[in-house]
Amino acid sequence: MGRQPSLWLVERGEAVMSHVIAAVSTGSQISAIGILRLSGSGCAQVAGQVFRPKSGRPLEEAPNRKLVLGALQDRQGRVLDQCMAVFTRGPHSYTGEDTVELHCHGSPAVLAAGLEALYQAGARPARRGEFTKRAFLNGQMDLTQAEAVIDLIEAETADAAANAAGQVGGALARRLEPVYSVLTDLCSHFHAVLDYPDEDIDEFRLSSYTGALAGAQETLTALLATSARGRVLRQGVRAVILGKPNVGKSSLLNALAGFQRVIVTERPGTTRDTVEETVLVGSVRLRLVDTAGIREASDQVEALGVARSVEAAQGADLALFVCDGSRPLEPEDREAMEAASHARHAICILNKQDLPCQVERSSLPFETILPVSAKAGTGLEALPPVLEALFGPGAACDGSILTNARQTDAIRRALESVRRAQEGLAAGFTPDAVLTDVEEAMEAMGELSGRTIREDITNRIFERFCVGK
Ligand code: GDP
Repeated sequence: MGRQPSLWLVERGEAVMSHVIAAVSTGSQISAIGILRLSGSGCAQVAGQVFRPKSGRPLEEAPNRKLVLGALQDRQGRVLDQCMAVFTRGPHSYTGEDTVELHCHGSPAVLAAGLEALYQAGARPARRGEFTKRAFLNGQMDLTQAEAVIDLIEAETADAAANAAGQVGGALARRLEPVYSVLTDLCSHFHAVLDYPDEDIDEFRLSSYTGALAGAQETLTALLATSARGRVLRQGVRAVILGKPNVGKSSLLNALAGFQRVIVTERPGTTRDTVEETVLVGSVRLRLVDTAGIREASDQVEALGVARSVEAAQGADLALFVCDGSRPLEPEDREAMEAASHARHAICILNKQDLPCQVERSSLPFETILPVSAKAGTGLEALPPVLEALFGPGAACDGSILTNARQTDAIRRALESVRRAQEGLAAGFTPDAVLTDVEEAMEAMGELSGRTIREDITNRIFERFCVGK
């Protein structure tokens, strides 16, 4: 995973432009309500030229965070809509600036005309994510929270939403804060002793930070361990169905579709198109890959060649190996079993239970074997608990699960640096050699939260050690 350039990092520290921005914050479809949103100093005056409060009191004098009834007017001064406005004064707003929301009826034409009128009144179009970006630049949230806002909007299951909501609330930031703080202490202590030799500062002993580094390592390791579940939470479980022809793969697919609505996605690939179907089994989303092959394979010799089965299983979180329980196992079954073993988890679906069973369970090398009849639709009720045990979020989805690839990458790098620092410490390296690793860890963590390392160390020196009197 390469480093991703971050707009936030590039612009942080520069003067925050607070020009009034405006956008439609709701969807583009006709809906009951549509919201026009403004942010920036003077936004109430801008909105006040487009929205006329019924009370006759100017919008900028409206009580804070209270809905005010009024009329929305277009550029010609025609009344377009009866709507409500809410004025939230900074810094206690989402962006940290003054913000106004106009709650209109959700006609795209009304919203477009209202927006145009706001531009005429001096607002400029908001860029993608600009409200949240301002919230970050104004210190209302750190990067992990800002990123979680997008995860929350895009959440496809309640668990994913709950985890993202926890992160918007700062769950991840709070978990990372003690680690960053410990590393900052170590660096600032070292630099303070070095830079201010005459001050009365405790002697710097690297060994006194052994426990702190171990604690940092433990937290980062635990966080990183959540990333596999996090990916599943965000994207669903990548699953493949494997088995020789006629064992009931396509019947299983149909039976699975009975759990809930099937979403079929065609993905034009570089070498071949793949078709993915998504089914919700209990609370787990299964993204079944390569289903086109299965559906079309009835009169083909093989649905997936052995090599392709292995390839598909290698990239999968789950392989569902299907065999026909009414017939003895054949070499082709064993090939499919072998392919299934390449997935992160594999489950055996022992199909055709409505017929006399000819397969010894002991000949199936799987921890989980589910006897089913895809045709009769029996036995599949055992699948949801199995999947939830394997892929469910486990502990409550409270924001402690790492779902974001950028964050995962930064934490991985931070952990590597902390480990190197620990090794250096154990091997008796000089403090400045160890410090390099600690600073690298801080840099990676600074990328996570979006703050800059030098500024923090410097600030901490003056705050904690009261130097510079
Ligand atoms: P695939 O080639 O692995 O996709 O297998 P299909 O799903 O097309 O099924 C092959 C044949 O087995 C069909 O005639 C199905 O009706 C039959 N079949 C599938 N599942 C069952 C089952 O649970 N019991 C019985 N008796 N027949 C089944």
